[in-house]
Amino acid sequence: MREDMKRDDDVTLPPLAAKWGASVENWQDAAWQMRHACCTLEDLERVLELSPRERAALQQAGARLAVRVTPHFLSLIDPEDVADPLRRQVIPLPEELESYSEELFDPCGEQKDEKAPGLVHRYPDRVLLLCTDRCATYCRYCTRARLVSGKGRERWRLDWEGALKYLREHTEVRDVLLSGGDPLLLADEKLDAMLGELRRIPHIEFLRIGTRVPIMLPQRITPALCAMLRRHAPLFISIHCNHPHELGEDAERALGMLADSGIPLGNQSVLLRGVNDSVEVQRALVHRLLQCRVRPYYLYQCDPVVGTRHFRTRPQEGIDIISALRGFTSGYAVPQFVIDAPGGGGKVPLNPNYVVAEESGRILLRNFLGDIYEYPVTPQV
Ligand SMILES: *Cc1c(COP(=O)(O)O)cnc(C)c1O
Repeated sequence: MREDMKRDDDVTLPPLAAKWGASVENWQDAAWQMRHACCTLEDLERVLELSPRERAALQQAGARLAVRVTPHFLSLIDPEDVADPLRRQVIPLPEELESYSEELFDPCGEQKDEKAPGLVHRYPDRVLLLCTDRCATYCRYCTRARLVSGKGRERWRLDWEGALKYLREHTEVRDVLLSGGDPLLLADEKLDAMLGELRRIPHIEFLRIGTRVPIMLPQRITPALCAMLRRHAPLFISIHCNHPHELGEDAERALGMLADSGIPLGNQSVLLRGVNDSVEVQRALVHRLLQCRVRPYYLYQCDPVVGTRHFRTRPQEGIDIISALRGFTSGYAVPQFVIDAPGGGGKVPLNPNYVVAEESGRILLRNFLGDIYEYPVTPQV
């Protein structure tokens, strides 16, 4: 049997597939998933019973950030629950058309650090490369809604030759992060060529890809893609997963294929009101990620992007979630909670405070249970 056919054996078709009359072969085909992604009120109405609020939002919301949801992701939503945490991430609500004085179009101040179109250089030794403006599914809280999906106020543009020239000249850059949009929507050949050109720059030691494809379009993770990525090692992948329901069998299989190809996997999630703003959901998420061989990396405070107020929690809620995980579960399961400082300050870690007092000769520490311990500080000669 061909290697790329083998994985179909244990695939079951979700009940929702019947809405498109899809066969197992259709369902497992990433191109089929993309062709049948729901992009309009009419598309969504055919497969999901929409609330009047969703219906109202769908008439206009696409003007801010396009609507697109893959059949795969729709199949993970509980159709009976209008407050389903996956549904809330991808189906617009009228609130996203409101804006408030604290909200920004470019909350992380990326424009300020753009060195060539599509290349953001903020930290001393690493850069962010925005490879595309397309995603398999658009998340309603997208921090780059200004340029992702082609509907925002900015047009995405990558000057690939300009970026390469900058990177060749800037020998301090040892780490290139490919993001977008979703780089795994690029064709294998195109991505292979880009990674290859970066690899040929001697001072670039480390490559990474930020992608939501293993969650939104796991069918895109093929043996051919994995074999290609493997050739560009050391290459890490950061996925983006917010809720344990996103990690069904198909995503688990896709992540397993990447892990089997020697690609270390991390997760970046966003703390979202009504989606994952509880200790129970976060604990279930990080445990499920580890089962899928993904190490929780960052938990982000939701950026103050225009139209996302209904998703934002207070920063203290994130700190409280970390307090409830640290010590109570595997250290590997605990992400770093961060705020990407508005205006371009970069990622700032927020941690529970475990240092109760610093005195001469000792510091007082609080452990995860709240008990106080003393550590003797050796005098320095
Ligand atoms: C997040 C980010 C990076 C990578 O940061 P790490 O903390 O190394 O994961 C690099 N550049 C920019 C502009 C970023 O926003």
